[in-house]
Amino acid sequence: MAEKNIFEKIIDREIPAKIVYEDDLCLAFEDIDPKAPVHLIVIPKLAIASVDDVSAEAEGVVGHLFAAMGKIAAKLGLSDGYRVVTNCGRDAGQEVMHLHFHLLAGRKFGWPPG
Ligand code: AMP
Repeated sequence: MAEKNIFEKIIDREIPAKIVYEDDLCLAFEDIDPKAPVHLIVIPKLAIASVDDVSAEAEGVVGHLFAAMGKIAAKLGLSDGYRVVTNCGRDAGQEVMHLHFHLLAGRKFGWPPG
């Protein structure tokens, strides 16, 4: 069996993480190297490597992740706004091959992104 990636290990509680939200389909936890005062990683429990790998069956899971992010933002009171980012592939700098959204808040963000 393939070696689990770091996010799969977090899902399976094999390594610790500061989990802020969990339901049947997804998990959100604090990024270990935050790039903003609020920096969460939001992941599906389903094994999906990246945006490139979202099958028709997984579309509902991705929609669920966005609904969860809205709930998390409301729970954290992010009324000044927040940014949701996903890196896909080498040029975007994807390090962990498990689909994840960065939910960033607590400061102003530039545009275009770096
Ligand atoms: P990406 O470059 O989009 O693949 O982002 C991977 C993110 O995962 C980075 O922001 C890392 O800081 C974060 N990360 C890596 N390992 C952990 C961990 N054990 N717990 C929390 N976040 C992590």
